[in-house]
Amino acid sequence: MSDVSPLDDLALDFDPDALRAKYQQERDKRVRKDGNSQYVEVKGQFAHFVDDHYVEPGFSRAPLTDDVELVIIGGGFGGLLMGARAREAGIKDIRVIEAGGDFGGTWYWNRYPGAQCDIEAYCYLPLVEELGYMPKEKYSFAPEIYEHSQRIAKHYNLYENACFQTKVTELRWDEDAARWIISTDRDDRMRARFVVMATGPLNRPKLPSIPGITDFEGHTFHTSRWDYNYTGGSHAGGLTKLADKRVAIIGTGATAIQSVPHVGASAKHLYVFQRTPSSVDLRGNKPTDPEWAKSLKPGWQRARRENFNNMVIGLPVEEDMVNDGWTDIFRNLSRAAKTKRAKELSRREAALLTEIADFEKMNGIRSRVDNTVTDPAVAEALKPWYRQFCKRPTFNDDYLPTFNRPNVTLVDTSDSQGVERITKTGIVAGGVEYPVDCIIFATGFEVGTAWTRRAGYDLIGQGGKTLSQYWSDGMKTYHGFSVHGFPNCFILGQSQNGGSVNLTSVLDDQAQHVAYIVRQIEERGARYSHPKKEAETAWVDEINRLSVVAARFLQSCTPGYYNAEGHFGEEGSGTLGGGGYAPGINAFNALMAKWRETGDMEGLEVVK
Ligand code: NDP
Repeated sequence: MSDVSPLDDLALDFDPDALRAKYQQERDKRVRKDGNSQYVEVKGQFAHFVDDHYVEPGFSRAPLTDDVELVIIGGGFGGLLMGARAREAGIKDIRVIEAGGDFGGTWYWNRYPGAQCDIEAYCYLPLVEELGYMPKEKYSFAPEIYEHSQRIAKHYNLYENACFQTKVTELRWDEDAARWIISTDRDDRMRARFVVMATGPLNRPKLPSIPGITDFEGHTFHTSRWDYNYTGGSHAGGLTKLADKRVAIIGTGATAIQSVPHVGASAKHLYVFQRTPSSVDLRGNKPTDPEWAKSLKPGWQRARRENFNNMVIGLPVEEDMVNDGWTDIFRNLSRAAKTKRAKELSRREAALLTEIADFEKMNGIRSRVDNTVTDPAVAEALKPWYRQFCKRPTFNDDYLPTFNRPNVTLVDTSDSQGVERITKTGIVAGGVEYPVDCIIFATGFEVGTAWTRRAGYDLIGQGGKTLSQYWSDGMKTYHGFSVHGFPNCFILGQSQNGGSVNLTSVLDDQAQHVAYIVRQIEERGARYSHPKKEAETAWVDEINRLSVVAARFLQSCTPGYYNAEGHFGEEGSGTLGGGGYAPGINAFNALMAKWRETGDMEGLEVVK
């Protein structure tokens, strides 16, 4: 090992120790003892926050008691991809059950002004090659994505047999019939041979349990149920009904970053209540170049997705195809691998260089604030002091300039760990009351709570065991898809499997894998399959073994939903999914491809 510090090769114009201390100090002041329980569940007196404004009231239909081959719960991209891949695998009898009034999931609910996907559309919008569709811009806005989800449903004939405005209330396994009995809030008792649960990671809005939250007498809503009747305007802005309104937005995550510019442009006055600033990088959207689109060769979307996935976990690639803010971050972070002494570097030294690259990236983000926001005190408050991936990075060109408007006020609540109190007529922060007509909660979605609470139903599997009991001491799955004792039931989404910031690519690969297993069970004339207990335990151990480095990183981060609000790893803290396969999505897919190639359903008990 060299006695020369790897920092000797770099001419730094900042002091890493000082930054480390600043990050620590900013983190410590934000960690609340109550962690995930600082939020209230959106039910009872808060239930109206999740009302569906997009459907006509009064829908009813007769209860269903029929038998279906494959029931998919959730009509977002997970459910759509499952439906598409199952159709391709030859499964004809499919029903999608969806709480909303149409397909779309996230994009059905999140119609707030400015909503856009941060992941490049050519990677994010699934099945564009299969459907012959080319996204209009590099980053799609919500209406285009919502429309695309309906395009997929039509193409794969998923409207047929779909049940909208229907919430599953229970799944109960009938061992004799080898069927799931699915109960819903429409009094259905339908039966399914296979069930796929695609209920999404961020499906349940959360509200902070701020004292006095129920006292407010003005108007209020959550961003995932934007009330255009109150604000006027549309996704494109023009919220004309706010012209005489004092509006508060609580929260400054990815949702607020996109909606604040529109509210700031329309409201009489906007107060943005911030606890932790987001990192806001360049957006730089542009229309799709038709010549480039014409030049693409079949298979281009998968190649691009894989290239992006490799980039964003820091694996070397020959060409950075996407070349945007996400891949830029990782290009910088992988600098450790490019120094002239790279081969001699210990793991500790490489981690140090990665940290330096992160400091540099965040210095750039902070300079962007200084260069954009004219009031130095406001600029200071808008600077994020944490490592780039402690929170979700955001990309927007209109957010920071909004704070130069005379009708927009930033209220920094970091010293009091958030908004202090809500009164009948306003919000109290830092001992000052801000009178407002409307409070918009941009406070995100439940992540760390029990999976069954977020799904909205429990599963009763073999022997009457419930999934909530079985997972009471932590998530246990085989490859993230299936659970011992819960036969022919599959979970889609990021959990104990390969993850990516491009969630649709994860869902697509998972859907293909699950469709394969379903076909295998059918072709083998089996009644069902589920993971063997020992295979499940070994997989969970493997996930935990591989995730040590990520866990250490998250523990040191500023609080947020990535790290159980600063309590990552503590008993019962809960996290996004179940840990993740640390080598990444492409490595996970390679593992699954090998698993399928062997053709023996290793680790699964196949019951005839
Ligand atoms: P987040 O959970 O990211 O943000 C919630 C915000 O509410 C945070 O700023 C949080 O502060 C703040 N907050 C919570 N409680 C209080 C309180 N008591 N007082 C003051 N502030 C409070 O939710 P979002 O809806 O913004 O985003 C959720 C996720 O959805 C994103 O991370 C992303 O994965 C996805 N998304 C993607 C988009 C895209 O592709 N462009 C757009 C929008 C969302 P603190 O940080 O201090 O906890």
